Amino acid sequence: MRLKDRVALVTGGNAGLGRGIALAFAREGAKVAICGRREEKLQQVVKEIEALGAGALGVKVDITNSEDVKNMFVETVERFGTLDILVNNAGIFRSDEAGVQDRKNHLDLVTTPIPARSLSITKNMSDENWKKMFEVNVHGLFYCTREALKIMEDKGYGKIINIASISGISGISAHSPNYSASKGAVVAFTRSLGYEVAGAGICVNCIAPGYIETDEFMRGINSMDPETRARFMQLMPTRRVGKVEEYAALAVHLASEEGNYMVGQIISPNGGLVIAA
Ligand code: NDP
Repeated sequence: MRLKDRVALVTGGNAGLGRGIALAFAREGAKVAICGRREEKLQQVVKEIEALGAGALGVKVDITNSEDVKNMFVETVERFGTLDILVNNAGIFRSDEAGVQDRKNHLDLVTTPIPARSLSITKNMSDENWKKMFEVNVHGLFYCTREALKIMEDKGYGKIINIASISGISGISAHSPNYSASKGAVVAFTRSLGYEVAGAGICVNCIAPGYIETDEFMRGINSMDPETRARFMQLMPTRRVGKVEEYAALAVHLASEEGNYMVGQIISPNGGLVIAA
């Protein structure tokens, strides 16, 4: 029970990695608020958290709306009395309307030698696609952080965990320049904010994952032909993608007292993807 009686808010906690973190926090005794835009998914995860015996709150919010974000923090404090932990997990990978097909395309691209790739991605990107990525992955993350700091500075305690990506520290997503740039911004923001608020008792850190087997990600993997899938796995010296539990355990560590001396760090669970590149 490393998070007993702590109050956490996990943005994008209604799916994928955010759901994994929300459930891991609940197992460690935290009360957990989650947010996302899909009501049905929110209610589903709220039930899963409650089934673990933890307090749960689902808030339907689009984090690109700063007023709605403010209200979400008010609602969380009204419900649970305070806020100790913020996980800035909500994020998008594609800024156009993309689904599994694009995820598959991404995986195919990272296994294709660079000279064979089209060089038309950045020069053909629309203003809208570039900006949309930053609206969610950077601006939304900032709105949430700003509200959390108002609560945490008053109490002299807090943990903020920003979720970036391996794409923010390596060139692996050369075909998604807007995604890479947005996650690079999250990395830099973590270091700067970590320095700014450590003296106020707030630890800010960042997890920059490689490939983790969420349901959606695995749908992409499973739609690859066997040869491409094998080539993809060769990218990692571990020859596998990470498990959600392995990743969520890191978030628990950073959110708990065990992580009290971690400040402004960028930790990348990636199966060796970067050292192999
Ligand atoms: P998913 O697409 O499965 O989940 C994204 C979550 O973010 C959903 O809960 C979604 O909820 C929420 N979300 C998206 N946009 C908004 C918004 N505008 N307002 C509120 N909530 C929003 O992605 P993953 O779980 O795979 O990724 C989670 C994080 O981890 C992201 O930041 C991603 O970049 C990062 N990451 C993931 C990796 C992986 O291997 N899976 C690798 C590297 C980084 P809803 O749609 O209901 O709004």
